[in-house]
Amino acid sequence: MAANLSTDIKYLPGVGPKRAELLQKELQINTVGDLIYYFPFKYVDRSKVYKVADLVGETAYVQVVGRLVKFEEVGERRSKRLVALLTDGTGVIELVWFTGTKWVMQNLKKNVDYLVFGKPTVFNGRYNIAHPEIEELSQAKGILQCPLQAAYNTTERLKNSHLNSKTIFKLQQEALKLVYGKLEETLPPYLLEKHKLIGINEAIKQIHFPETAQLLQKAQYRLKFEELFYLQLGYIKQRSFRQSKVNGHVFGMVGETFNLFYHKYLPFELTNAQKKVIKEIRRDMGSGKQMNRLLQGDVGSGKTLVALMCMLIAVDNGYQACLMAPTEILATQHFLSLSAMLGDMPIEINLLTGSTKKSQRNEIHQGLLSGKINILIGTHALLEDIVQFKNLGLVVIDEQQRFGVMQRARLWEKNDDPPHVLVMTATPIPRTLAMTAYGDLEVSVIDELPPGRKPIKTVHYMENRRNAVYGLMREQIKLGRQVYVVYPLIKESEKMENLRDLEEGYQSITELFPPPQYVTVIVHGQMKPDEKEKAMQLFAKGKAHIMVATTVIEVGVNVPNASVMIIESAERFGLSQLHQLRGRVGRGADESFCVLLSSVKLSNESRKRLETMVATNDGFEIAEADLQLRGPGDIEGTQQSGIPFDFKIANLSRDAQLLQYVRNIAEDIIEDDPLLTADKNALLVKRLTDIASRKLDFSRIS
Ligand code: ADP
Ligand code: MG
Repeated sequence: MAANLSTDIKYLPGVGPKRAELLQKELQINTVGDLIYYFPFKYVDRSKVYKVADLVGETAYVQVVGRLVKFEEVGERRSKRLVALLTDGTGVIELVWFTGTKWVMQNLKKNVDYLVFGKPTVFNGRYNIAHPEIEELSQAKGILQCPLQAAYNTTERLKNSHLNSKTIFKLQQEALKLVYGKLEETLPPYLLEKHKLIGINEAIKQIHFPETAQLLQKAQYRLKFEELFYLQLGYIKQRSFRQSKVNGHVFGMVGETFNLFYHKYLPFELTNAQKKVIKEIRRDMGSGKQMNRLLQGDVGSGKTLVALMCMLIAVDNGYQACLMAPTEILATQHFLSLSAMLGDMPIEINLLTGSTKKSQRNEIHQGLLSGKINILIGTHALLEDIVQFKNLGLVVIDEQQRFGVMQRARLWEKNDDPPHVLVMTATPIPRTLAMTAYGDLEVSVIDELPPGRKPIKTVHYMENRRNAVYGLMREQIKLGRQVYVVYPLIKESEKMENLRDLEEGYQSITELFPPPQYVTVIVHGQMKPDEKEKAMQLFAKGKAHIMVATTVIEVGVNVPNASVMIIESAERFGLSQLHQLRGRVGRGADESFCVLLSSVKLSNESRKRLETMVATNDGFEIAEADLQLRGPGDIEGTQQSGIPFDFKIANLSRDAQLLQYVRNIAEDIIEDDPLLTADKNALLVKRLTDIASRKLDFSRIS
């Protein structure tokens, strides 16, 4: 059969229409090409054969060679099974099938030698292997020479139709017969040579049928390289194309207001990290190209100030700037603190949120159009079409992980020439993820906290030690400090129940800490804005000792006198959320505490999360741990990025170094040949187009 990669999988010998349908449904394998790019998930040593007499205890997978001596159907109805006895001269082992017995009876023969592979367990004093992989010994010579036999993931439905790992292995053999030597190279020769990569034909062969561990490693490296390289090349090309098409506003100078603020108003020295980042941003904004930059910095690292100073640069160059925050509480707080910092400087700064009064709103719309307003702070309300600027030059998005890609794009459209965009996040995304989820953005990192911050002491208590926690609260309140108690908000649909948790918590706190000696406020997302505001203000001004809240306070809230963060049902929170919440304390007090309260029974993963929180205060370490624990698809802020994280072979947490390496290569290539017009890069363009069209196909199917 003449075949190429796009040949329908059903024509591959051994497949046929029925299996093809299953392969399509279960593994999205539609073509021969899909199959050979369906890579093994592990390799098993099939060169070692055990004697039955040597089996001890319940072990991992083993392989035995022996003769089938007896078949017997035992049990009734649901416990009905087929048992075959296999002897190798040293002992007897049972092979057991609960399903597919018809196939077994038709295909396996008595008094013939077989090679059997599976996981032995002990039942009735005898070893047995359920649903073993089994092969006539005379056919199995190849397997026995193989210390590295590929194993493939399958599904229950596939296994029920005998499409198990071994069958897929055999299909791969068939596929390779068809395509080996005919696969078109997917990387240009100069890259293969320079980076010592093996060719595609060899790589595909060795990934499925490795001859040696070293060749396998080379195959894996090359295929990972290819996968990550094209991803990065796509991003970087996109960025370069965008920059060549879109003109950025040139912020040529650092002018009067910036300098005035810096020298006369700034209440403290900038950290070196802040200075470095402002420089990076300034360089971007002065370059004539539109800036798209992600600013990462741990909770409390002073990103807001960086945003303000960049907005002043915009103002100095005759442009307007806006800052969008995900919650009303946060937007209001930004507005208040930035207004306070700007003092009597000649800057017109305004706040626009969902609860801005209509008359005021109209005035703001006017002020934006006339150019009277220099800086606008707000929530999603900024996105409304009616909000139009005279000349918006810079958009800052705070807590970017809370917004979707679409929302980012809508702010772009607020000006004929798109404004510079700075997105900020305190959910440190591991670098590898940032490169993938936000691959078309530049990344700046504030890796330093303002001086004088004391690390927060974090402890994990089971619920039965609540009393110790109340003791700590009393102690700290006595010292004049304030306390947060946070309850999880699980899902929108469970709103009422959540509030019950919260309200019960509030009840018991007010009983334990009775007024008027103690003042406790409650804050949650369903309160009326002015009530919420009132409670926040009581706490912010130090008039309330305790704030009982849902995660509405998770992002950005800043009350330096608060020194204790108590997180109820901490096991229900994700790592990055816990870290964000903890970041609400440790902002001023001499010593701060974070108490993670959990139930006694914990899943392994929850326990690890809580252990990580106790072990480190470093947001980047926490982000890495999160990536290891949950996998990239679940990291907050990546779901909306639209990037599929189901790599065929690369692994973002393990292949971080390679990712950085190929990104640099991609950058060099684009720098040399920004529009990829050189002959030697023709293949790159073709591949990028192929990959993009395949993505489109997938999206059409699903
Ligand atoms: P985040 O990065 O989490 O958004 P903020 O911008 O809210 O952090 O800053 C946290 C606190 O640190 C604020 O009270 C801010 O005024 C203060 N701050 C920012 N930069 C500095 C600095 N260089 N020195 C001292 N305090 C600073
Ligand atoms: Mg912030």
